[in-house]
Amino acid sequence: MLKKCSRCGSEMTIMLRNVVYRRSVKIYNVPVHVCGDYECSHSQVVEIIKEDLKQLMKELGPAPSQQEIEFEQISELSHLLVYVADQSETNQETAVRTVVENRVNELLDLFLLAQSLGDERWCTEIRNRLVQIV
Ligand SMILES: [Zn+2]
Repeated sequence: MLKKCSRCGSEMTIMLRNVVYRRSVKIYNVPVHVCGDYECSHSQVVEIIKEDLKQLMKELGPAPSQQEIEFEQISELSHLLVYVADQSETNQETAVRTVVENRVNELLDLFLLAQSLGDERWCTEIRNRLVQIV
């Protein structure tokens, strides 16, 4: 998930930002890549959560009412990153990888269960979650 800045080429780190949409919706914990170069400090939304964000904005519509949304309730990746941020790990890169691996294993177990039960809808839901993180 490491990425180089498109402007200056420095390493970017992932941070969780709060985003305000249409001045009325506060969206908490949106994963954003931020350039490590202080002068540049270019930031952009993490690619793989863009679809979740777009979907959310579509649901909110053009004139949403005042509300607060926790993005990790919607986005699998955001959920994982919030979890990692809560850990006081010195090596967050390792923490991210471990957490993702654990989550993938967990989802695969669920997938096998859903499959053995012949629950198509559940299978699809789990598959969508997996696609977000692998
Ligand atoms: Zn930069």
